[in-house]
Order: sequence, then C-alpha cells, then structure tokens
Amino acid sequence: MSTIGNPILEGKYAASMDLWPLEARQFNRIYEFYDNLRAGRFTTTRCKRCQHVDYPPRVICSECYSDELEYIDLPVKGKVISFTEQARGVPLGFEPAPLIHAWIDLGKDSPVKRLLSRIHNCPAGSLKEDDDVQLIVFDIPAHPMEVGKETKTMERVFFGFEPIKKD
Ligand SMILES: [Zn+2]
Repeated sequence: MSTIGNPILEGKYAASMDLWPLEARQFNRIYEFYDNLRAGRFTTTRCKRCQHVDYPPRVICSECYSDELEYIDLPVKGKVISFTEQARGVPLGFEPAPLIHAWIDLGKDSPVKRLLSRIHNCPAGSLKEDDDVQLIVFDIPAHPMEVGKETKTMERVFFGFEPIKKD
C-alpha cells in the first residue's frame, strides 16, 4: 500500500502538510499534465488560437486569454545551466540532502527553452554546469479522496531530472 500524504504523519492525512499537488481531475484543471507524466511524456500547453506556449501548463493562455489549449511534448533531456545545492535544512518529508534545484536548457528547438527543476539521484558536490540531465517520473505519497461513501486512495506521480551517467 502506498504512503498517504506526508510520511512523517504516519498514514494520517493533513491537507495543510501535503507537499504535493492534488492531481485528480476533480481537483486539478491541469490533470492531463500528470496523466501524460504517467505515460512517460513531459508536456505543457500551447494555445490553439495564438500558438503561445506556456510553462508550467495553464488553463488559459497568458498571451490572449483563450482557453483553447492543447498539450505538446517537451524534450526529456537537457543541460544544466546553473544550480543551487542545499545541504542542510531540507524540509521534512523531502528525501534527505542534498536538495538540488537547477535551471535546465532544453535546447534551441524546444518550445520551452529553459525551466527550473529539482535534480534527483545526484550525490552532493557532483553536479556541474553543462552536465546532461534527463527527466524522471516517480511516485509520490497518495492522498485520500471521498467517492460516495468510500474513501479511495489516489495515487500520484511527480517529475524531476537526474544526471545522465557518463561511461
Ligand atoms: Zn493565446
């Protein structure tokens, strides 16, 4: 059985201590982004009217306010532009240090040139600028949801990037 909510609460669910978005269609209007992640696709929204691409995905276009959006694929590999590495004071519920955030260059042909993401599976002190990284999708703690008289466990996923191992 999957963990519910924040692991430090030992199975009790407190919405205010949930570190992650509710991803089910009932709670989240960009649920398609998470459904795509589950299928191994990294996507965002493009406006059908003016072609503007937003990242993170949105429910209305930030340029023309149209809600006619479609999901398009983004590259799943990129290069580290710059990064921060937090060795202490990592918030409870996150995996242990280091907590690394990086700006990632997705390449000049990508509809989104750069984005900020966490870097996983990376020992402290080993990341360098220009390193190649790739998308990873992983399970995060589930959350309970009332469905009629039943409580259902809603599984969730999230994404980050990890260094591509060099031979
Ligand atoms: Zn638009």
